[in-house]
Amino acid sequence: MLNSFTISELTAKLARRECSARQVMQACLDQIQRVDGRIKAFLSYDAADALSQAEVADKAIASGADFDRRPLLGVPVAVKDVLCVKGHPCNCGSKILNRFVSPYDATVIDRLKAAGAIVFGRLNMDEFAMGSSTENSAFFTTLNPWDATRIPGGSSGGSAAAVAADEAIATLGSDTGGSIRQPAALCGVVGLKPTYGRVSRYGLVAYASSLDQIGPLTKDVRDAATMLGVIGGHDPRDSTSVPEPVPDYVAALDADIKGIKLGLPREYMIGGLDPEVKRAIASAVQRLQQLGAEVREISLPHTDYAAAAYYIIAPAEASANLARFDGVRYGLRVEGADPIELYGKTRGAGFGAEVKRRIILGTYVLSSGYYDAYYLRAQKVRTLIRQDFLKAFEEVDAIATPTTPTPAFKVGEKSDDPLQMYLSDIFTVAANVAGICGISVPCGFTSTENAKPGTPKLPIGLQLLGKPFGEQTLLKIAYAYEQGTFPRREKPPLAP
Ligand code: GLN
Repeated sequence: MLNSFTISELTAKLARRECSARQVMQACLDQIQRVDGRIKAFLSYDAADALSQAEVADKAIASGADFDRRPLLGVPVAVKDVLCVKGHPCNCGSKILNRFVSPYDATVIDRLKAAGAIVFGRLNMDEFAMGSSTENSAFFTTLNPWDATRIPGGSSGGSAAAVAADEAIATLGSDTGGSIRQPAALCGVVGLKPTYGRVSRYGLVAYASSLDQIGPLTKDVRDAATMLGVIGGHDPRDSTSVPEPVPDYVAALDADIKGIKLGLPREYMIGGLDPEVKRAIASAVQRLQQLGAEVREISLPHTDYAAAAYYIIAPAEASANLARFDGVRYGLRVEGADPIELYGKTRGAGFGAEVKRRIILGTYVLSSGYYDAYYLRAQKVRTLIRQDFLKAFEEVDAIATPTTPTPAFKVGEKSDDPLQMYLSDIFTVAANVAGICGISVPCGFTSTENAKPGTPKLPIGLQLLGKPFGEQTLLKIAYAYEQGTFPRREKPPLAP
């Protein structure tokens, strides 16, 4: 089954003419037909457009295209519904962008296309990327390919589930507080959040502009390196993208990590940590030690305040960013007697409950009288959190933590309790607050030995955090771990 291969496996096959891009694309479309009714990763896709892109790729291959220059040639890549793809819908999982069609390509989409990828499909997500389970999608909830009674994580839940279920070879997500790493962990795939400024945000619908980054979700670490090499780099259309050269991430993969210094933050070993997660992380760390990593305990003293600071800063920025959805410029319009009524009715009808909650919270923390008490303080805490990390990185090359405090939870389990839902990001938000990079790599499963009969095994993710623009080091450690521990990927029961 061609759809179950990785990018590197497929491009090798395509280069040797053992299969065509059309066959690969068709295999993904067939898999979607077969399993997406149960998983619901896709909001929509255009099969005819995808196949015609595949034909273009096949022509390029036939005329001797260079896979070094176009490392994604003929590879189907699906994208989260928050990225603009010219001529395709972009709804951000929301009703307010009803019938909106992107007039241009996001920079990452430009780059995927230039590298030869077949960009297809719109992947489900929490509305405007606000959430941790895809239950906030205005359309439907995506289900976890390992157990359809559970959530796939969020907000890039569709992006993670689609890769886990082999419906796409790789996907793009966005990560504002964990939305790539958390669903990657819960679905058993690799998810990389680049350093703030590594990847252009042009054409990414903004949630919280100072925290958002686009990144890949892939079947293995090598593919994450390939994808980052394609989408990374300075873009004159995003002034926050950094003119730092893009290294050859794939060439830097090297299974030898002898002498790498790995920090374990004392503050992350919290009481609420699921015992299965704790066990899996402990054995991953042991494995890394066997592979030559030097492990030491470190301290990130302001960790306790990261989620609180995040849930002030992110809604504050969101309240400003989402002001543009007013019924005049994009998507949905509900008429009113005057413009004010039109804005109110459109936003009232178009936004879901969580988005409204964030807008109200964000407006509150920015309002005069509360600005100093909340927003300004959160920004000061943000500086302290960044300093914690920079200080730690004077001592260690990377930091290892669980990606999530628990494995995938049940649909509905946390949807009535926003605070519980917010806490599922407890280990991921700090990286965005500090602007550093992070990756989640599969590190095993919950054990079914002591569990009730019929309880499925669920994936667990190891998070590695790295210094600004230290993606190479993270990828190298993650690669060594993956190669030395789980060289073959297991398939989820819903998409065998
Ligand atoms: N779950 C977090 C939130 O709801 C993070 C979301 C994200 O990274 N986009 O804000």
